[in-house]
Amino acid sequence: MFQRIILLFVVCLLFETTVYSQKGIKIRTIVIDAGHGGKDPGALGKNSKEKNITLDVALQTGKFIKQNLPDVRVIYTRSKDEFIELHRRAAIANEANADIFISIHCNAVPNNTVYGAETFVMGEHKSEANLEVAKLENAAILLEDNADSEYGGFDPNSTPAYIAFTLYQSEYKQQSISLAQSVQEQFTKRAGRKDRSVQQAGFLVLYRTAMPSILVELGFLSNLKEEAFLLSESGKTFMAQCVYRAFRDFKTNFERDNASAPLVVSDEKTEMKKEDTPKKDEKKPDEIANQTPKDPLGKPDQSKESVTSEKGLVYKVQFYTHPNKLSFKDKRFANIETIGVYFHNGLYKYTSGSFTDLNKATAHQSVIRKAGFTDAFVAAFRNGERISMEEALKLSR
Ligand SMILES: [Zn+2]
Repeated sequence: MFQRIILLFVVCLLFETTVYSQKGIKIRTIVIDAGHGGKDPGALGKNSKEKNITLDVALQTGKFIKQNLPDVRVIYTRSKDEFIELHRRAAIANEANADIFISIHCNAVPNNTVYGAETFVMGEHKSEANLEVAKLENAAILLEDNADSEYGGFDPNSTPAYIAFTLYQSEYKQQSISLAQSVQEQFTKRAGRKDRSVQQAGFLVLYRTAMPSILVELGFLSNLKEEAFLLSESGKTFMAQCVYRAFRDFKTNFERDNASAPLVVSDEKTEMKKEDTPKKDEKKPDEIANQTPKDPLGKPDQSKESVTSEKGLVYKVQFYTHPNKLSFKDKRFANIETIGVYFHNGLYKYTSGSFTDLNKATAHQSVIRKAGFTDAFVAAFRNGERISMEEALKLSR
C-alpha cells in the first residue's frame, strides 16, 4: 500500500497534474423577445398585426418553460403591447446575463403564395430574400427617437449598410445554429409547418446580444392560410410549444455535453510565456498565454512579426473551444501557429496570432479557416481580457 502511495506521488510529480473541479454549466436564464409592439405593429396581414401574434406566442412559450423547467428564469422584453427599442431588447438580455435569447417574429412579403417557418441566426445574408427580412425587422429603429446616435447612423433600408455585418463572427454562432435547427425541427415535425430552414442575416437585435441568439419567423402573414393558422389559438399554442420543446432539447443536450465532472488538466505553465506583470495566482487557468510551437514542416512563421505583448488592444483568431485544457502540441493543432488559450464561461478557448491591426487579424482568420477551422473568427482583447468587437472598434477609433 505504502509503495502504491509513493508511486502515485512520483507520478504526480512527473506530470504535475492539476485537477480543476468545474461545476456543470447550466442554462438558467432565457430572454424571450416578442417582436415589435406599441406604435410599431410589425408586419401586417389582412386580418392581423405581427405585434399581437408575437406577444401571444412569446408569453405562451414562457409559460410552458416555467411550468416544465422550473430551474429556468424566464424574462420577457415586453409582456404587454408597448414599444421597446431594439437596442433595449438586447440590453435586457445582456444585463440579465441571459444564457439564451429568442426573438419571435412573423414575416410578410408581396408574393402571397410564399409561406413557411424559418429561423435566423446573426450572420452575413446569403440571399436577397434574407436581406429583405433583416431590412424589414431592422426598420423598427426608424420609429426610435435616438436611432442615429444609438446605431451610428445605420440606415436599415440601405443595402451597403449591411456590409458592416460581413465581418461579424460570434463564439456563440454554432450554439445559435444548433438551437435554430432544434426550432425548425419542431416547427416541421410537430406543427407541420413548411421548413424554410435555418438562415442568417444582419439583425440589429441579434448583433448586440452576447449569448446564443436566434430570431424566429413563425410564418407569413401575407399568406391567407398561414395568417389564419397564426391567428388561431391552437396555431399560436402549437408554435409556442415548438419553441419551448426546442429550447428544452437544446438545454438538455448542452447540459449533457457540459456535465459536471472534474477536469483533469495537465499543467502547461512551463510552455507559456511569462507576461509583463506577475500573476496573482499562477494556478488559475483564466490567463491568456501565447506560444509558438515548432513547425514540423519547417515553413516560415509569418505571424511572428505581428505578435505583440498582451497589453492594450489586440486581435486574435479564435478557432477552437474545448472543455479540457489541451496541449499545444495536440495533433488537432498541427497546422496552427502561435497558439494561445484563455478560459471563459467554463471552456478553454484556443486562439492563434496576436495583432494590433484588425486587417492583419482578418487575413490570419482566412489562413486558419483554410487550415480546417472553418468557424474561426477574430476576437478582441484589452489588457488580456476578452472584449466585444463593438467595444474594440470604439477603442480603436
Ligand atoms: Zn418582426
